[in-house]
Amino acid sequence: MAEKDGRGGEEYHRAACYANTQVALAAPESPPTIRQPMPELPEVETTLRGVSPHLIRHRITEVIVRDKRLRWPVPDAMHDLEGQRITAGERRAKYMLFHTAKGTLLLHLGMSGSLRIVPPDTPWRKHDHFALTMDTGKQLRLHDPRRFGAALLIEGDPQQHKLLCELGPEPLGPYFTASHLKSACVGKTAAIKLVIMDAHIVVGVGNIYASEALFMAGIDPRKPAGKVSLPRLEKLVAAIREVLAASIEMGGTTLRDFLNEKGEPGYFKQTLRVYDRAGEPCRVCGAKVKKIVLGQRSTFFCPKCQK
Ligand SMILES: [Zn+2]
Repeated sequence: MAEKDGRGGEEYHRAACYANTQVALAAPESPPTIRQPMPELPEVETTLRGVSPHLIRHRITEVIVRDKRLRWPVPDAMHDLEGQRITAGERRAKYMLFHTAKGTLLLHLGMSGSLRIVPPDTPWRKHDHFALTMDTGKQLRLHDPRRFGAALLIEGDPQQHKLLCELGPEPLGPYFTASHLKSACVGKTAAIKLVIMDAHIVVGVGNIYASEALFMAGIDPRKPAGKVSLPRLEKLVAAIREVLAASIEMGGTTLRDFLNEKGEPGYFKQTLRVYDRAGEPCRVCGAKVKKIVLGQRSTFFCPKCQK
């Protein structure tokens, strides 16, 4: 885990925001038209671990902006990073943060982004929009066909930036507990699945992980959040941690791919328990897995195991 994992909770929310305007990244309402997995928290963590040795403690010799039209325009000030040394890297939700004395580089992979490390004479691919040449002689390239990703330069404390300051705690950090979740659920009639996917409550629980964790905890995804007992929320918190940690661990085996010339990060497929298994037998009881739509997102569950 990145060092600052787990920042969140009350302490976190006391921080003042640069702006009250709520900025949301493009919500994945419509599925990508090209079949490509959207980077989720485990992929981002894996990516960070993969690129960090090539960036941290190294100096940026050149900033290359080939197309500034990402989710937000890549700022001209990005060139201020030339000559700067990256002192540390960390992940917050699905943002990667690289710190320098001139500010923090924020990278987000959006819906289709990926990073790779290549020799600078590697031919550019279409959709390689942003790159950093490092004093190691290698280059970091951001590839993003759908351009929902981001490359921003943040001055001051990045945790107080408007993109980060309202985020809930990290799912694998110390502030994401059953009592935190309980206080977020009190009086809520919204389905528990929608609550755990709300980034103000906890970050990084994507659609697949939400279905999987609710199955592991035996909770019906439609159950009103306020009606889930504390012991069951304890199970849910443990399940969310388990499913994300397992994905990150599996991703670790793909790290070597970052040096591969083909450079596609090898996303990993966990053995899914219910997700994408509509009509197939539940792995526990044999009942048919059901698919419903909840908050416009496909939701899979076992009607026998989940109450
Ligand atoms: Zn079952």
